[in-house]
Amino acid sequence: MNTFLRGGVSFFDDQKSQTSHKPIERFVPKEVTIPLSQHLGEPARPIVARKQKVMRGDCIGEAVSGGVTTGGTPIHASVTGTVKRVALQPHPLLVESLAVVIETDPNAAETVWEEVPGWMDLPKGKMLEQIASAGIVGLGGAQFPTYRKLKLPEGVKVDTLILNGAECEPYLTSDHRLLLEMSLEVLQGAKLIAKILGVSKILIGIEENKKDAADVLRIAITKQHTSPSPKVVLCQTRYPQGSEKQLIEALTGRVVPPGKLPMHVGVMVQNVATAVACYQAIRYRRPLLDRILTVSGKGILEPKNVSVPIGTLVSDIVTFCGGIHQRTNKVIVGGPMMGRALGRLDIPVIKGTGGLLFLRAEEVRKEIYGPCISCGRCLEACPLGLEPNQISIYTEAGRSLDTESFGTKECFECGSCAYVCPAVRPLVQFIQIAKKSFQTGSQFGLARPEQNL
Ligand code: SF4
Ligand code: SF4
Repeated sequence: MNTFLRGGVSFFDDQKSQTSHKPIERFVPKEVTIPLSQHLGEPARPIVARKQKVMRGDCIGEAVSGGVTTGGTPIHASVTGTVKRVALQPHPLLVESLAVVIETDPNAAETVWEEVPGWMDLPKGKMLEQIASAGIVGLGGAQFPTYRKLKLPEGVKVDTLILNGAECEPYLTSDHRLLLEMSLEVLQGAKLIAKILGVSKILIGIEENKKDAADVLRIAITKQHTSPSPKVVLCQTRYPQGSEKQLIEALTGRVVPPGKLPMHVGVMVQNVATAVACYQAIRYRRPLLDRILTVSGKGILEPKNVSVPIGTLVSDIVTFCGGIHQRTNKVIVGGPMMGRALGRLDIPVIKGTGGLLFLRAEEVRKEIYGPCISCGRCLEACPLGLEPNQISIYTEAGRSLDTESFGTKECFECGSCAYVCPAVRPLVQFIQIAKKSFQTGSQFGLARPEQNL
């Protein structure tokens, strides 16, 4: 079975059965809060004002500053309605950011997307232009503008496109449902991206716990008879199989060296949901307006997969999912391994939001940790062969600047090391602190609180 060679972890129960059988349900709230910062780089500039009527799909924020493109992505109205305000609002990653609040018109007609004539044979530059105008970012969580990723630097060529359908984080099943319910759109997206890149080989990587999705895709491929014909590859169910470097190794055997990108070994990786967004942008000039996400955990009364307009508040999704169990202990945006804890529920879903987890005490690791006992388990679990134990010991001692040789800069914060640590040490947190100290040039520490001694 295809997989990466070094490190990684397997989960005793990945909790995906809470939602993997649940079809995607549509929910449109009465109001959306659309942040103007939903991508890596500068926020978009608002071009709408209070009381202005907007249609679903209208541009409300431009990726332009002083007449020059910022390298970011535009932001669009995800519902038809009236702008209530443009103001600082809570943000899932940035604490707060400028956002456009729109009251949904409940009587608005469904938006109709006209097909672009000759969409399949548009020149590469035109396809990239439509992807840029649609505001598409990497939907696997990276949030990097997709048109920039697809525009390869002069002289760089790739020969393989990998669609990432691994979805290796526990609990999350939205990509699984997307593969089952939108397989044709996924394949069309793959074909168009392959055309932009000029590649003839398309591999779709799926973990073996989603065999049904692989079967659906294989049948769809047979019916399409298109060239190049994508190949579905099942991989071992093993975290972090869905990380770019690990998936490339599993599917092609190529190893991306430290500090290098997939394109340096001739590969481009795109998430399956990003492929669907590209297809909709090229065929219909449809911007990225909705997000499919998993709402799960024992703390939510009705776990679901939902499709919501971008800007839908977590609190509205909670109501749609029947409410929160009173013993809910932690709320996470994203997956449990790489997601972030939320301290409030009036936070909007953004383009990169793939999941919302409502966890009860029995699903959360205890916070109190002990000293490193040098068991070496974190070293075995790290897929990059780094030394998170040493990073944590040095950082704890206030010597974070001395951790570079242990691999601090290379770490992509997958959390495998922390997951296996019997002392429950917050290894990712130590690594984040060490990275921060490289940026500022100051030594930081994270002393163990008294109760941890
Ligand atoms: S979080 Fe970093 S150090 Fe820990 S296992 Fe992942 S890559 Fe390795
Ligand atoms: S797993 Fe935890 S206790 Fe074991 S070596 Fe790593 S940091 Fe130390």
